[in-house]
Amino acid sequence: MTASIIDGRSIAKEIRKQVKQRVKELQTQPGLAVVLVGVDPASKIYVKNKIKACEEVGFHSEVRRLDENATLGEVLEAVQELNHDPKVHGIIVQLPLPKQIDKNLIIDAILPYKDADGFSPINLGSMFADDNRLVPATPKGIITLIKSTNQELAGKHAVILGRSPHVGKAVATLLLQENCTVTICHSKTAQLESITKRADILVAAVGKPKMITEEMVKPGAIVIDVGINQVYDTLVGDVDFEEVKKVAGFITPVPGGVGPMTIASLLENTLICLALQRDMK
Ligand code: NDP
Repeated sequence: MTASIIDGRSIAKEIRKQVKQRVKELQTQPGLAVVLVGVDPASKIYVKNKIKACEEVGFHSEVRRLDENATLGEVLEAVQELNHDPKVHGIIVQLPLPKQIDKNLIIDAILPYKDADGFSPINLGSMFADDNRLVPATPKGIITLIKSTNQELAGKHAVILGRSPHVGKAVATLLLQENCTVTICHSKTAQLESITKRADILVAAVGKPKMITEEMVKPGAIVIDVGINQVYDTLVGDVDFEEVKKVAGFITPVPGGVGPMTIASLLENTLICLALQRDMK
């Protein structure tokens, strides 16, 4: 058996096409601003890709670049300026932030209806209360990928590796809403393999190259690889793709799986932000 590849690139392309069409119909040009603090090379690439996607669909976009040594006050000031900028409907702060900046304070400062990443406590809290108006972009993309398999989700056992609020916990919440039975694993989980082996849906969001091996996967499972790991000059996921595809039913590649969906979902979220701001007028 060889798994069907879930082609995140082409699903994301279709979403971008729909967003572009929507932009043509709008009277206001949607705007997305990215706050980038420091010189992390991976962050620079992520930001470049986000801006490119904005340009492709006809969004206004801008990057606020701050020095690696920027103070908390300076980053907060940049966020406040964007909160008040009528051209900007969505704001994201590229993570990670330098050590001296408290990530939570910065995310809290973004107005909830401009929080295109869906990271603010208000938007995360709404999602936990089954109100999905602004769902974090990566989990949103993951659910779209899982649904693209057209498999019945209700009653399935979903196992999530990773419990970060913006990825693992959020994916778990969304799969619970789909009536999956959800298990969350983390670095202290005992006998991991015995748990992953029972997963109908396995989502790996850890950040450890190729940690999911063939023996850990139930035949026919849907395997979603969120991990992005730089190994020498190539990117690999948390899943040993070549081995796991021999047993899985469906699998996402890295690159070309979750990554493009994160950006597509970010564009969709910016449109939602714009609609929320319009409704408030
Ligand atoms: P975090 O570092 O915040 O979380 C990693 C999680 O993995 C933690 O909950 C940790 O557990 C858990 N973990 C660590 N070791 C193990 C282990 N041996 N077994 C099971 N769980 C383990 O990372 P993120 O959630 O932000 O991101 C996860 C991965 O996804 C990264 O590779 C990141 O680059 C990638 N990513 C990709 C995106 C995309 O668009 N494709 C977007 C966002 C992230 P504990 O809580 O106990 O420490």
